[in-house]
Amino acid sequence: MKKYLFLAALMLIGAANLNAASPKKKVKETPEAKGVASINRATAEAHVDFLACDELEGREAGWKGGRIAGNYIISCLKQMGLQPLFEDGYVQPFEACHAERQKRGQRWQVHPDSIANLKKGVHQSLDLRNILCKIEGKNPNEIVIIGAHYDHLGYDPMLKGDQIYNGADDNASGVQAVLQVARAFLATGEQPERTTIFAFWDGEEKGLLGSKYFAQVYPEIGKVKGYLNYDMIGRNNNEANPKHFVYFYTAAYQMFGDWLKNDIVTYGLELDPNYRPWDNPVGGSDNGTFAKLGIPIIWYHTDAHPDYHMPGDHSERCNWPKMVDITKASFLAFWKLANEKY
Ligand SMILES: [Zn+2]
Repeated sequence: MKKYLFLAALMLIGAANLNAASPKKKVKETPEAKGVASINRATAEAHVDFLACDELEGREAGWKGGRIAGNYIISCLKQMGLQPLFEDGYVQPFEACHAERQKRGQRWQVHPDSIANLKKGVHQSLDLRNILCKIEGKNPNEIVIIGAHYDHLGYDPMLKGDQIYNGADDNASGVQAVLQVARAFLATGEQPERTTIFAFWDGEEKGLLGSKYFAQVYPEIGKVKGYLNYDMIGRNNNEANPKHFVYFYTAAYQMFGDWLKNDIVTYGLELDPNYRPWDNPVGGSDNGTFAKLGIPIIWYHTDAHPDYHMPGDHSERCNWPKMVDITKASFLAFWKLANEKY
Protein backbone atom coordinates (compact mmCIF):
# COMPACT_ATOMS: atom_id res chain seq x y z
CA MET A 1 0.00 0.00 0.00
CA LYS A 2 2.73 2.45 1.02
CA LYS A 3 4.59 1.73 -2.14
CA TYR A 4 1.53 2.76 -4.12
CA LEU A 5 1.10 5.93 -2.10
CA PHE A 6 4.73 6.78 -2.77
CA LEU A 7 4.23 6.17 -6.46
CA ALA A 8 1.10 8.28 -6.45
CA ALA A 9 2.97 11.08 -4.70
CA LEU A 10 5.71 10.89 -7.31
CA MET A 11 3.14 11.10 -10.06
CA LEU A 12 1.54 14.13 -8.44
CA ILE A 13 4.90 15.87 -8.25
CA GLY A 14 5.49 14.97 -11.86
CA ALA A 15 2.13 16.42 -12.85
CA ALA A 16 2.81 19.60 -10.87
CA ASN A 17 6.18 19.99 -12.60
CA LEU A 18 4.55 19.48 -15.97
CA ASN A 19 2.00 22.17 -15.20
CA ALA A 20 4.72 24.55 -14.11
CA ALA A 21 6.60 23.93 -17.34
CA SER A 22 3.64 24.30 -19.71
CA PRO A 23 2.78 27.74 -21.07
CA LYS A 24 0.04 29.72 -19.39
CA LYS A 25 -3.38 28.79 -20.72
CA LYS A 26 -5.11 31.60 -22.53
CA VAL A 27 -8.65 30.36 -21.89
CA LYS A 28 -9.78 29.85 -18.29
CA GLU A 29 -11.38 26.55 -17.29
CA THR A 30 -14.90 27.92 -17.58
CA PRO A 31 -17.89 25.67 -18.36
CA GLU A 32 -17.78 27.06 -21.94
CA ALA A 33 -14.10 26.16 -22.30
CA LYS A 34 -14.86 22.59 -21.23
CA GLY A 35 -17.59 22.44 -23.84
CA VAL A 36 -15.31 23.77 -26.57
CA ALA A 37 -12.61 21.25 -25.63
CA SER A 38 -15.02 18.36 -26.19
CA ILE A 39 -15.58 19.30 -29.87
CA ASN A 40 -13.15 17.64 -32.26
CA ARG A 41 -12.40 16.56 -35.79
CA ALA A 42 -12.49 12.79 -35.18
CA THR A 43 -16.12 13.06 -34.03
CA ALA A 44 -17.00 15.24 -37.02
CA GLU A 45 -15.49 12.70 -39.41
CA ALA A 46 -17.16 9.77 -37.67
CA HIS A 47 -20.66 11.25 -38.04
CA VAL A 48 -20.25 12.72 -41.53
CA ASP A 49 -18.49 9.67 -43.02
CA PHE A 50 -21.30 7.43 -41.82
CA LEU A 51 -24.22 9.68 -42.78
CA ALA A 52 -22.77 10.36 -46.24
CA CYS A 53 -21.79 6.78 -47.06
CA ASP A 54 -23.13 5.23 -50.28
CA GLU A 55 -25.01 2.58 -48.28
CA LEU A 56 -27.41 5.26 -46.97
CA GLU A 57 -28.35 6.03 -50.58
CA GLY A 58 -28.55 9.79 -50.13
CA ARG A 59 -30.87 9.79 -47.05
CA GLU A 60 -34.02 10.74 -48.90
CA ALA A 61 -36.87 11.63 -46.53
CA GLY A 62 -39.24 8.71 -46.12
CA TRP A 63 -36.87 6.23 -47.81
CA LYS A 64 -34.72 3.47 -46.29
CA GLY A 65 -31.49 5.50 -46.15
CA GLY A 66 -33.28 8.37 -44.44
CA ARG A 67 -34.74 5.99 -41.85
CA ILE A 68 -31.31 4.49 -41.09
CA ALA A 69 -29.80 7.97 -40.75
CA GLY A 70 -32.54 8.78 -38.23
CA ASN A 71 -31.90 5.56 -36.31
CA TYR A 72 -28.21 6.42 -36.15
CA ILE A 73 -28.96 9.85 -34.66
CA ILE A 74 -31.29 8.28 -32.07
CA SER A 75 -28.52 5.84 -31.08
CA CYS A 76 -26.08 8.72 -30.62
CA LEU A 77 -28.53 10.63 -28.41
CA LYS A 78 -29.22 7.55 -26.29
CA GLN A 79 -25.52 6.88 -25.89
CA MET A 80 -24.98 10.43 -24.61
CA GLY A 81 -27.84 10.00 -22.15
CA LEU A 82 -29.88 12.90 -23.54
CA GLN A 83 -33.52 13.08 -22.58
CA PRO A 84 -36.09 12.66 -25.37
CA LEU A 85 -38.22 15.77 -25.95
CA PHE A 86 -41.43 13.80 -25.87
CA GLU A 87 -42.60 11.33 -23.22
CA ASP A 88 -42.81 8.52 -25.76
CA GLY A 89 -39.33 9.01 -27.18
CA TYR A 90 -37.05 10.94 -29.52
CA VAL A 91 -39.24 10.61 -32.63
CA GLN A 92 -41.90 13.02 -33.77
CA PRO A 93 -43.60 11.15 -36.62
CA PHE A 94 -45.59 13.03 -39.23
CA GLU A 95 -47.15 12.51 -42.62
CA ALA A 96 -46.48 14.55 -45.75
CA CYS A 97 -48.74 14.39 -48.80
CA HIS A 98 -48.31 15.48 -52.39
CA ALA A 99 -50.55 15.51 -55.42
CA GLU A 100 -50.12 12.73 -57.97
CA ARG A 101 -46.74 13.30 -59.65
CA GLN A 102 -47.93 14.47 -63.05
CA LYS A 103 -49.59 17.51 -61.46
CA ARG A 104 -47.06 20.29 -61.98
CA GLY A 105 -46.21 23.05 -59.56
CA GLN A 106 -47.40 21.19 -56.47
CA ARG A 107 -45.64 21.03 -53.11
CA TRP A 108 -45.46 18.54 -50.29
CA GLN A 109 -47.92 19.46 -47.55
CA VAL A 110 -47.87 18.83 -43.81
CA HIS A 111 -50.85 20.93 -42.69
CA PRO A 112 -53.87 18.76 -41.72
CA ASP A 113 -56.27 20.80 -43.90
CA SER A 114 -54.04 20.49 -46.98
CA ILE A 115 -53.52 16.80 -46.30
CA ALA A 116 -57.29 16.20 -45.93
CA ASN A 117 -57.81 17.99 -49.24
CA LEU A 118 -55.15 15.94 -51.05
CA LYS A 119 -56.54 12.71 -49.65
CA LYS A 120 -59.77 13.27 -51.57
CA GLY A 121 -57.88 12.37 -54.74
CA VAL A 122 -54.99 10.26 -55.99
CA HIS A 123 -51.98 11.41 -53.97
CA GLN A 124 -48.50 10.56 -52.72
CA SER A 125 -47.77 10.06 -49.02
CA LEU A 126 -44.57 9.79 -46.96
CA ASP A 127 -44.05 8.84 -43.30
CA LEU A 128 -41.39 11.19 -41.95
CA ARG A 129 -39.69 11.62 -38.59
CA ASN A 130 -38.20 14.56 -36.73
CA ILE A 131 -35.80 13.54 -33.98
CA LEU A 132 -35.65 15.69 -30.85
CA CYS A 133 -34.07 15.69 -27.41
CA LYS A 134 -33.66 18.24 -24.65
CA ILE A 135 -31.74 19.42 -21.65
CA GLU A 136 -34.14 20.85 -19.11
CA GLY A 137 -33.22 24.41 -18.12
CA LYS A 138 -33.39 26.08 -14.71
CA ASN A 139 -36.18 28.13 -16.25
CA PRO A 140 -38.26 25.77 -18.43
CA ASN A 141 -40.58 28.63 -19.38
CA GLU A 142 -37.95 29.77 -21.87
CA ILE A 143 -36.73 27.52 -24.66
CA VAL A 144 -33.98 27.71 -27.27
CA ILE A 145 -33.61 25.31 -30.20
CA ILE A 146 -30.62 24.25 -32.28
CA GLY A 147 -31.30 22.25 -35.43
CA ALA A 148 -30.16 20.80 -38.72
CA HIS A 149 -31.95 18.75 -41.34
CA TYR A 150 -30.71 15.18 -41.74
CA ASP A 151 -32.46 14.26 -45.00
CA HIS A 152 -30.98 14.77 -48.45
CA LEU A 153 -31.86 14.08 -52.09
CA GLY A 154 -31.59 10.29 -52.27
CA TYR A 155 -30.39 8.66 -55.48
CA ASP A 156 -31.31 8.64 -59.12
CA PRO A 157 -30.98 5.28 -60.94
CA MET A 158 -31.21 7.11 -64.27
CA LEU A 159 -28.03 9.09 -63.62
CA LYS A 160 -25.03 8.00 -65.67
CA GLY A 161 -22.10 7.30 -63.32
CA ASP A 162 -22.39 8.23 -59.64
CA GLN A 163 -26.10 7.96 -58.79
CA ILE A 164 -26.00 8.81 -55.08
CA TYR A 165 -26.46 12.28 -53.63
CA ASN A 166 -24.31 11.66 -50.55
CA GLY A 167 -24.94 15.04 -48.95
CA ALA A 168 -21.81 15.20 -46.80
CA ASP A 169 -21.92 18.98 -46.70
CA ASP A 170 -25.72 19.13 -47.17
CA ASN A 171 -26.33 18.42 -44.36
CA ALA A 172 -24.37 15.69 -42.58
CA SER A 173 -22.02 18.53 -41.63
CA GLY A 174 -24.88 20.25 -39.79
CA VAL A 175 -26.02 17.05 -38.09
CA GLN A 176 -22.55 16.41 -36.67
CA ALA A 177 -22.58 19.98 -35.32
CA VAL A 178 -25.87 19.51 -33.44
CA LEU A 179 -24.58 16.20 -32.03
CA GLN A 180 -21.27 17.73 -30.92
CA VAL A 181 -22.96 20.80 -29.41
CA ALA A 182 -25.28 18.52 -27.41
CA ARG A 183 -22.25 16.67 -26.06
CA ALA A 184 -20.49 19.98 -25.34
CA PHE A 185 -23.49 21.13 -23.27
CA LEU A 186 -23.13 17.97 -21.17
CA ALA A 187 -19.35 18.54 -20.93
CA THR A 188 -19.85 21.96 -19.32
CA GLY A 189 -21.19 20.19 -16.24
CA GLU A 190 -23.77 22.97 -15.83
CA GLN A 191 -27.51 23.10 -16.26
CA PRO A 192 -28.42 25.81 -18.79
CA GLU A 193 -30.69 28.65 -17.77
CA ARG A 194 -33.24 27.97 -20.53
CA THR A 195 -34.44 24.58 -21.73
CA THR A 196 -32.44 23.59 -24.81
CA ILE A 197 -33.85 21.46 -27.61
CA PHE A 198 -31.61 19.64 -30.08
CA ALA A 199 -33.51 19.01 -33.32
CA PHE A 200 -32.86 16.91 -36.41
CA TRP A 201 -35.38 17.80 -39.10
CA ASP A 202 -36.68 15.44 -41.75
CA GLY A 203 -37.95 16.47 -45.19
CA GLU A 204 -36.10 19.80 -45.47
CA GLU A 205 -35.16 19.14 -49.08
CA LYS A 206 -38.85 18.62 -49.93
CA GLY A 207 -39.79 22.03 -48.52
CA LEU A 208 -38.75 22.50 -44.85
CA LEU A 209 -41.37 19.89 -43.95
CA GLY A 210 -39.98 18.78 -40.57
CA SER A 211 -39.47 22.22 -39.07
CA LYS A 212 -42.83 23.39 -40.48
CA TYR A 213 -44.64 20.46 -38.91
CA PHE A 214 -42.87 20.99 -35.58
CA ALA A 215 -43.69 24.71 -35.47
CA GLN A 216 -47.30 23.92 -36.35
CA VAL A 217 -47.95 21.42 -33.55
CA TYR A 218 -45.42 22.01 -30.74
CA PRO A 219 -47.50 23.28 -27.82
CA GLU A 220 -44.58 25.25 -26.29
CA ILE A 221 -43.65 27.11 -29.48
CA GLY A 222 -44.60 30.44 -27.84
CA LYS A 223 -41.79 29.96 -25.29
CA VAL A 224 -39.04 29.70 -27.94
CA LYS A 225 -36.58 32.61 -27.53
CA GLY A 226 -34.06 31.73 -30.22
CA TYR A 227 -33.27 29.26 -32.99
CA LEU A 228 -29.81 28.33 -34.29
CA ASN A 229 -29.60 26.55 -37.66
CA TYR A 230 -26.98 24.76 -39.70
CA ASP A 231 -27.23 23.98 -43.36
CA MET A 232 -23.93 23.14 -45.10
CA ILE A 233 -20.92 24.05 -42.96
CA GLY A 234 -18.35 21.77 -44.57
CA ARG A 235 -17.07 23.19 -47.84
CA ASN A 236 -15.17 26.07 -49.42
CA ASN A 237 -17.01 28.51 -51.61
CA ASN A 238 -13.67 29.96 -52.68
CA GLU A 239 -10.58 27.76 -52.33
CA ALA A 240 -8.46 30.91 -51.94
CA ASN A 241 -10.32 31.71 -48.71
CA PRO A 242 -10.89 28.40 -46.90
CA LYS A 243 -11.87 30.17 -43.66
CA HIS A 244 -14.90 31.83 -45.27
CA PHE A 245 -18.43 31.21 -44.08
CA VAL A 246 -21.64 33.19 -43.94
CA TYR A 247 -23.07 34.15 -40.57
CA PHE A 248 -26.71 35.09 -40.94
CA TYR A 249 -28.56 36.50 -37.96
CA THR A 250 -31.66 38.51 -37.17
CA ALA A 251 -30.55 42.12 -37.65
CA ALA A 252 -32.32 43.42 -34.55
CA TYR A 253 -29.93 41.33 -32.40
CA GLN A 254 -26.63 43.05 -32.97
CA MET A 255 -25.07 41.15 -30.03
CA PHE A 256 -25.25 37.94 -32.07
CA GLY A 257 -22.58 39.46 -34.31
CA ASP A 258 -20.53 40.69 -31.35
CA TRP A 259 -20.61 37.23 -29.75
CA LEU A 260 -18.96 35.66 -32.77
CA LYS A 261 -16.34 38.43 -33.11
CA ASN A 262 -15.32 38.01 -29.47
CA ASP A 263 -15.35 34.20 -29.49
CA ILE A 264 -13.10 34.02 -32.56
CA VAL A 265 -10.49 36.07 -30.68
CA THR A 266 -10.88 34.40 -27.27
CA TYR A 267 -10.71 30.86 -28.62
CA GLY A 268 -8.32 31.47 -31.52
CA LEU A 269 -10.79 30.11 -34.11
CA GLU A 270 -9.57 29.97 -37.70
CA LEU A 271 -12.65 31.60 -39.21
CA ASP A 272 -13.27 34.52 -41.51
CA PRO A 273 -17.04 35.09 -41.33
CA ASN A 274 -19.10 37.21 -43.65
CA TYR A 275 -21.44 38.88 -41.15
CA ARG A 276 -24.89 39.04 -42.66
CA PRO A 277 -27.44 40.71 -40.34
CA TRP A 278 -30.80 40.12 -41.99
CA ASP A 279 -34.02 42.10 -41.46
CA ASN A 280 -36.34 39.30 -42.46
CA PRO A 281 -34.38 36.03 -42.45
CA VAL A 282 -37.04 33.77 -43.89
CA GLY A 283 -35.23 32.03 -46.78
CA GLY A 284 -32.71 29.29 -47.34
CA SER A 285 -33.34 26.63 -44.73
CA ASP A 286 -35.24 25.64 -41.58
CA ASN A 287 -34.35 28.99 -39.99
CA GLY A 288 -37.12 30.42 -42.19
CA THR A 289 -39.77 28.47 -40.30
CA PHE A 290 -38.77 30.10 -37.01
CA ALA A 291 -38.03 33.57 -38.41
CA LYS A 292 -41.59 33.70 -39.77
CA LEU A 293 -42.82 33.35 -36.18
CA GLY A 294 -40.71 36.34 -35.12
CA ILE A 295 -38.13 34.16 -33.33
CA PRO A 296 -34.56 35.51 -33.58
CA ILE A 297 -32.31 33.19 -35.59
CA ILE A 298 -28.65 32.46 -36.26
CA TRP A 299 -27.69 30.45 -39.33
CA TYR A 300 -24.24 29.06 -40.26
CA HIS A 301 -23.60 28.31 -43.92
CA THR A 302 -20.35 27.95 -45.89
CA ASP A 303 -21.95 29.07 -49.18
CA ALA A 304 -22.39 27.51 -52.61
CA HIS A 305 -19.87 25.19 -54.30
CA PRO A 306 -19.79 23.10 -57.50
CA ASP A 307 -20.99 19.92 -55.69
CA TYR A 308 -24.05 21.64 -54.19
CA HIS A 309 -27.04 19.30 -54.74
CA MET A 310 -24.84 17.09 -56.91
CA PRO A 311 -23.64 13.48 -56.47
CA GLY A 312 -20.14 14.82 -55.78
CA ASP A 313 -21.04 16.12 -52.29
CA HIS A 314 -18.64 13.60 -50.72
CA SER A 315 -17.16 13.62 -47.23
CA GLU A 316 -13.52 13.53 -48.38
CA ARG A 317 -14.06 16.96 -49.96
CA CYS A 318 -14.94 18.57 -46.63
CA ASN A 319 -12.82 21.20 -44.96
CA TRP A 320 -12.66 19.51 -41.53
CA PRO A 321 -10.75 22.17 -39.56
CA LYS A 322 -13.31 24.78 -40.63
CA MET A 323 -16.25 22.50 -39.86
CA VAL A 324 -14.83 21.92 -36.37
CA ASP A 325 -14.20 25.62 -35.71
CA ILE A 326 -17.71 26.56 -36.88
CA THR A 327 -19.05 23.88 -34.54
CA LYS A 328 -17.05 25.41 -31.67
CA ALA A 329 -18.18 28.94 -32.50
CA SER A 330 -21.80 27.83 -32.72
CA PHE A 331 -21.61 25.95 -29.42
CA LEU A 332 -20.46 29.21 -27.81
CA ALA A 333 -23.33 31.10 -29.48
CA PHE A 334 -25.91 28.52 -28.43
CA TRP A 335 -24.51 28.51 -24.88
CA LYS A 336 -25.14 32.26 -24.78
CA LEU A 337 -28.59 31.86 -26.39
CA ALA A 338 -29.38 29.42 -23.58
CA ASN A 339 -27.91 31.44 -20.72
CA GLU A 340 -27.65 35.15 -21.42
CA LYS A 341 -30.05 38.06 -21.68
CA TYR A 342 -30.66 39.34 -25.22
ZN1 LIG B 1 -29.54 21.58 -46.84
